[in-house]
Amino acid sequence: MSTDAPKLSPVETIKEGSDYLKGTIGQEIADSVDHFDKSNIQLLKFHGSYQQDDRDSRLTAKKTGAGKAYSMMVRLRIPGGRIQSDQMLSMLDLCERLGNSTMKITTRQTLQLHGILKDDLRETICYINKIALSTLAACGDVNRNVMCCPAKRIGSIHADMEKLTDELTEALAPQTPAYHELWLTDPESGEKTLEGGGPIEPLYGPTYLPRKFKIGIALPEDNCIDIYTQDLGYLAVVRDGAIIGYNVLVGGGMGTTPSAKKTFPALAKRMAFVTPNQAVGIAQAILKVQRDNGNRGDRKTARMKYLINDWGIEKFRAEVEKCFGEPLVDCTEDEVHGFDDHMGWQEQGDGKWSYGLNIENGRLYDNEDQQLKATLRAICREFETEIRMTGHQSVIFTDIDGADKDKLISLITQHQVPTTEQTSTVRRWSMSCVALPTCGLAITESERRLPSIIDGLEAPLSKLGLDKERFTIRMTGCPNGCARPYNADLALVGKAKGKYTLYAGGGWLGNRLAYVYKDLVPDDVVVDEIIAIFAAYKANREEGESLGSFCTRVGKDDLAVLATAAPRP
Ligand code: SF4
Repeated sequence: MSTDAPKLSPVETIKEGSDYLKGTIGQEIADSVDHFDKSNIQLLKFHGSYQQDDRDSRLTAKKTGAGKAYSMMVRLRIPGGRIQSDQMLSMLDLCERLGNSTMKITTRQTLQLHGILKDDLRETICYINKIALSTLAACGDVNRNVMCCPAKRIGSIHADMEKLTDELTEALAPQTPAYHELWLTDPESGEKTLEGGGPIEPLYGPTYLPRKFKIGIALPEDNCIDIYTQDLGYLAVVRDGAIIGYNVLVGGGMGTTPSAKKTFPALAKRMAFVTPNQAVGIAQAILKVQRDNGNRGDRKTARMKYLINDWGIEKFRAEVEKCFGEPLVDCTEDEVHGFDDHMGWQEQGDGKWSYGLNIENGRLYDNEDQQLKATLRAICREFETEIRMTGHQSVIFTDIDGADKDKLISLITQHQVPTTEQTSTVRRWSMSCVALPTCGLAITESERRLPSIIDGLEAPLSKLGLDKERFTIRMTGCPNGCARPYNADLALVGKAKGKYTLYAGGGWLGNRLAYVYKDLVPDDVVVDEIIAIFAAYKANREEGESLGSFCTRVGKDDLAVLATAAPRP
């Protein structure tokens, strides 16, 4: 190797020496230590698991010398968020048997379990595969869960989008035999629980991608999967009731690192139009260009958005075209112009109905106030239909007969869960990442804090007459941006202990980045700061102007002046 070869990041070296993600995970599973070593922690992500520890107990543990309380987060890959009732029931059983008894619906339409002990990891992953689900490639430097509009609609448009979701999932799945060897083979007898896996990685190669890769498929009138935040987005182009192809968008990504000035959130750019037959091939070509040219020296700038920023979209497109082997044509004029969260009752087109139930921050739990898991169990047992998870961390129950609508609603209310109609608009359009106590990167609270922030906003919004207005409020415990904060109308991003960066100016369409309105806002004044923005919006908005558009039009400085001057509700 030339001495001029760029220095690889440590994770690249770990991947390279891992024998296709095997590492020494097998040996470590068998030992009696309660956590994995640093190298295997990196490799486990590709298998769908992050090592975490209970950060609430760190202080006590330090005092008593008990050490960290380690556990594993296990994330599933559920393309398009489609899951059958019996699978959901099994997952609810699993979270109670081996997890911390809750489950989280993520912002990428999948499920994750928390609190799995290292000793139970093999049993957990094996069980998930036995119910025909998987954790492979739910995390790691590979293509992750493919998102797709979860609405159940009869007709070719949604069927074609769902088919593409499955084809992309299949075509871009890692082929390492390590997954089957580690999790689906009996360690004593060597007997395989399930067959599968291949000898090599024809697409990824031994070091996989420089960084994670995300794909989403949307319709112009319905950007519910947030297409501009994806590395690769497919915007369906529909003519005469059928999809004739897709506008391909590239280079979206939310994560930033405050200490690294060169990092930034980016919205995906329009690159080319492809026919349905070209849709999988273009993904493979794009992935290869990123595989071979993405930055493997610095993980902070390894996402594809940085390659596109360095090269410019024209050069990137030319490289993709070369790899694809066919001339690319320009995008059609079709653009995003709507967003449907699919909550409440919607007709499917076959005489049946879907019901979207808002799940606050995607957390499924039972307590004395409300029993979300029990609700899901009751509906799954009663209707035995398909469930779809949304990109806003909620669920859609499909294939409900009109005559059964009241029965479904009563199964929700008898478990003290508010229906979508009983949920305020601001709560319905909010979302947060997990953050504390399990996420190792969290700087501040997020999921545990956002509900009380929303509590504090509901009454003022009502007084201002804004309670029916639709806008997005998103919160994350660090700038990594897992809940896609940077294109929301308003967002709180954890910056320092108990302090947040307040962003304003994105929008529910997802096609505009927000700006930093105020930095290092202490937790105890966050609600007041947001109410002041609402008051300024109410007093100064133009006819039909959305909250994010208003914040963008007036800009940061004038927003601060208007927010100070506007009468509070
Ligand atoms: Fe953790 Fe940060 Fe992602 Fe939240 S945004 S889950 S704190 S990495």
